Amino acid sequence: VNITTLSIGDELLYGETVDSNAAQLGERLYLAGFKVQRHFTVGDNEQDIMEAIEILTERSDVVIVTGGLGPTIDDITARAAAKITSRRLILNDEALTHLQQFSEKLGKELHPANEKQALLPAKSTVIPNPLGTACGFALTHKGRFLFFLPGVPREMVRMLDDTVIPFILPRRKQKTVILTKVLKVFGLEEAAVGALLQEVALPDAGITTAFCVAYPEILIKFRAEGTNGAELTEALDKTWAAAKQLLRGYVFAEDGETMDSTVAALFRATGMTLALAESCTGGMVAARITDIPGSSAYFLEGVVTYSNSAKERTLLVPATLLAEKGAVSAEVAKAMAREMRRRTGSDIALAITGIAGPDGGTPGKPVGTLFLALADSAGCQTKRYTFHGNRSEIRLMTSFTAMDWLRRRLSSIQGEMTVQ
Ligand code: ATP
Repeated sequence: VNITTLSIGDELLYGETVDSNAAQLGERLYLAGFKVQRHFTVGDNEQDIMEAIEILTERSDVVIVTGGLGPTIDDITARAAAKITSRRLILNDEALTHLQQFSEKLGKELHPANEKQALLPAKSTVIPNPLGTACGFALTHKGRFLFFLPGVPREMVRMLDDTVIPFILPRRKQKTVILTKVLKVFGLEEAAVGALLQEVALPDAGITTAFCVAYPEILIKFRAEGTNGAELTEALDKTWAAAKQLLRGYVFAEDGETMDSTVAALFRATGMTLALAESCTGGMVAARITDIPGSSAYFLEGVVTYSNSAKERTLLVPATLLAEKGAVSAEVAKAMAREMRRRTGSDIALAITGIAGPDGGTPGKPVGTLFLALADSAGCQTKRYTFHGNRSEIRLMTSFTAMDWLRRRLSSIQGEMTVQ
C-alpha cells in the first residue's frame, strides 16, 4: 500500500506550529507496517490543497490529510475535497448529531459557526472523533482512499489509531513486520557511541541502527524489518542486548522509559528519600522529580537558595566560606548538600551551584562551571563540570546530570542491596 500524507495550515508554513502530525503519521504507520512515501505541507489555500491532493492521489493508494476541518473561515479542507472529487458539500446528519452531542456533553450550546463542520462532501464516510467537535471523513477518488482528519494532534492520532489504520491493515499485500527497540544513553559523545556499537555484530537479519540526539540524550533505535516475526524478534533482542552490554553504565532508559521515570523507579525500589538544594537550576531538578506521580513517597523537600544570603540563612553556609571560595565552589556545594541532608533527615541530599550565564563567568570559573554535591550515609562527594551552550542548555544539562548522578548512586545502592 502506497501511502502519502498532507498537512494543511498556514501556521505550519510560517513556523508557528511544528508539523508534529507528519511525524506522528510517519511513526504510527511505520510501526503498523506501512511506509509513508511522501509528505506535503500546504497553507490554507484552496488551490494549493486541491493541487496537493491531486498529485498525491496519482502516486498513492491512500492519502491521509490533516487540518482545516474547524469552524473558522480558514478551514477549507472539506470544500477543497468536495471540489477535487466533483461532489457537493452537504449537511451530514451523522456529523451534525456528533456535533450536537459533543457540545451537550461539554454543557455548551452548539455555536452556529460549528455547524459548518458537518458540511461534508456527498457520499463521505464519517470518521468518528471521540475527542473533539470535528468529525473526519473518508472518500474514494480515482480508486484511491482519501482520509481527512482534524489538525489537533491528539484527535488526529486517536482517529488514525481507531479508524484509519484498522481500515488499511487488511489491505496490505505483503505482511511486513516492523519491530523497534530503543536504548537511551547519556554521558557519551555521539561519535563514541557510534564507535562502540561498531563492535556489535549486527546480524544480517535486516536490523538497522539509527541515532537521534534529543539534547542532552542520545537515542539509539534498533529496527528490524522482514516477514518472519519470530526470527526478527530473536535477532533484534540479540543485537539490542549486545549493544546494551557495550554501553552499560551509560544506558539510562529503554524504550518508553525516561531518565525521570528510571530515577523514580530506583527511588521506589531502594526506599531511599531525597532532598534537593538548588541554585542556578532554580528548581528544575525538583520539577523533574515531582513530574512523576507518586514522588511524594521519596521526595521530602527542595529549596532554591539563589542568593548568598539564602545559602547562609537556609543552609547555614558560612559567610566566610562564601567569601573565601565563592558561591560557585565545591566547598559551598558540599556545605549545601550536608545541611540539606541534616535538616530534612533525607537519605540522599543533592546540591547544585553554578554559573548558567550569560554573565558572571571569570577566567577560573567560566560560564558553564557547575558544582554538584551528593550527601548520603557514605559521606559527601562533589563533582565539577564545565558545560557549553546557552543559559537554557547549561541549565538543562545540569538538571539532567544531577538526575543521572542520582540514577548511578541509586543503582549502586540497589546493587548492594541485592548482594546482601
Ligand atoms: P479544529 O476543529 O480544532 O479547528 P482543524 O482540523 O480545523 O481542527 P486546524 O484548525 O487546522 O485543525 O488546527 C487545530 C490545531 O491543531 C491548531 O492549534 C493547529 O496549530 C494544530 N495543528 C494543525 N495541524 C497540525 C500539524 N500538522 N501538526 C501539529 N499541529 C497541528
